[in-house]
Amino acid sequence: MTEQHYPVLSPIKTGIRGRCPGCGQGSIFQGYLNLAPRCTVCGLDLSFADPADGPAFFVMSIVSFPVVAFAGWLEIQHQPPIWVHLITSLPMLLGGCLALLRPLKGWIVSSQYVHKAEEGRLVQAKEQ
Ligand SMILES: [Zn+2]
Repeated sequence: MTEQHYPVLSPIKTGIRGRCPGCGQGSIFQGYLNLAPRCTVCGLDLSFADPADGPAFFVMSIVSFPVVAFAGWLEIQHQPPIWVHLITSLPMLLGGCLALLRPLKGWIVSSQYVHKAEEGRLVQAKEQ
């Protein structure tokens, strides 16, 4: 495979759609959240990608505040039986988390690629 050079793409545009940060066409996912080993279009090795629990932290932070505020408001205003929370607050929490996890993970992986974020390494001194 010949190596092609692509212009730097916006991590937000490629990441949110789950596209390869190198070519912007291939998918970086294999399944819903698992990362593919490499891009199916340009062959970019995705082993650099290590978002760890970053996407989960952002999603919890973004989704939990409005849903907990809604659940609190519902409880204080209407004091509904518990099953009302099970059919309102719980699906909002699960749906919000599932809807945001994939685009946020894609965005973080694309940002790691564009900003060349990787584990620190010691520089070897050149032998004279
Ligand atoms: Zn690609």
